[in-house]
Amino acid sequence: MNENLTADRETFVTHLECSITGERYEADQLHGLSRAGRPLLVRYDLDAVRSAISRDTIEARPTDLWRWRELLPVRDTANIVSLGEIETPLVPLTKSGGPNVLVKEEGRLPTGSFKARGLVMAVAMAKELGVTKIAMPTNGNAGAALAAYATRCGIETIVFCPDDTPEINVREIAMQGARVWRVNGLIDDCGAIVGKGAAEGRWFDFSTLKEPYRIEGKKTMGLELAAQFGWQLPQAIFYPTGGGTGLIGMWKAFDELEQLGWIGAERPKMFAVQASGCAPIVRAFEAGEEHAERWEDASTVAAGIRVPKAVGDFLILRAVRDSGGQALAVGDPAILKAVDAAAKQDGLLLCPEGGATLAAYHQALNTGLVDEDDKVVLFNCATGLKYPMPEAPQALDRTQPIDFDAL
Ligand SMILES: *Cc1c(COP(=O)(O)O)cnc(C)c1O
Repeated sequence: MNENLTADRETFVTHLECSITGERYEADQLHGLSRAGRPLLVRYDLDAVRSAISRDTIEARPTDLWRWRELLPVRDTANIVSLGEIETPLVPLTKSGGPNVLVKEEGRLPTGSFKARGLVMAVAMAKELGVTKIAMPTNGNAGAALAAYATRCGIETIVFCPDDTPEINVREIAMQGARVWRVNGLIDDCGAIVGKGAAEGRWFDFSTLKEPYRIEGKKTMGLELAAQFGWQLPQAIFYPTGGGTGLIGMWKAFDELEQLGWIGAERPKMFAVQASGCAPIVRAFEAGEEHAERWEDASTVAAGIRVPKAVGDFLILRAVRDSGGQALAVGDPAILKAVDAAAKQDGLLLCPEGGATLAAYHQALNTGLVDEDDKVVLFNCATGLKYPMPEAPQALDRTQPIDFDAL
């Protein structure tokens, strides 16, 4: 085990804050949404963090997620249930992307997706605050990460997913010890069941952004990027946006890093990428709205971003607008073409959501939203190995003469 996890440590959480009204909530208590029905954000004593540690302190530590512990909410290290949350590599995508395109390869994380970042944090906090039973709606990867971490620390989990969730996700959730139910509806229909059970006191609601700590886990993507870019940031980030936790988390990370004096005021343009078959954030962005209406009849091959209604919609839209970025929609054919191009030309297997960011990058390049000289990061949020691939049916009969020229 990483010795940093066993060492005593100080944490710097002061309180939580409603993301829409600014109302203050006590730390070290169990919270869901704020009284206004919106996500709660964790606040830290950043002056104290600045006095306690420096960028050099961080750089001297092993590169995993816990090197950022002073900027994370877990008070007691005994509550951390690590499966090995490594810093993910930035892989150049030279041919199918371009000379300045890097992919943040999140599929290398435990359970094969970046949902591990959010769930390792949320489960640690649930354990710290005495939760024994958790329920969650999921499109697949979040349920798998929840199942793994909760099982590891003895918390009971019940997971609800749309009945067309990728088969491998449903099975990995079950295999890792959760009770999983296929529901004839979309993720927000599953969320309604979770909400009803939570209101009856049956379990704690772990829906995206309905507990405060998944954002803090996802925030580490922004912290990592800053360190990987030598305490600067790329010019643009393309993020496949469902609930938007990662985009909101990164934006929060940049703000905290600037307050610490560890980065400057420059920010990447944030591009929220959605599928044209489910693009509520894009529609709201284009209409100049602060909130997004539910997207009816949502449909896309990119299951992870099939989220018809996001409770943090206004936080996504604010970050995208403040950054000078945009919300972009790409069609399923463009997504599949991008996955194919990255695999065949660069040897990197993207998940469909990752493919969406590559397709959106080309769209942004063509419309002049980014320049070929801009350093750009695309998020590939799950390993491509979890998703269906085209058949490869060729077989060779070794008892017959072999035509070596035809191989
Ligand atoms: C969950 C998920 C997303 C969307 O992440 P949010 O932070 O919820 O917007 C994108 N890609 C994959 C593979 C996912 O599992």
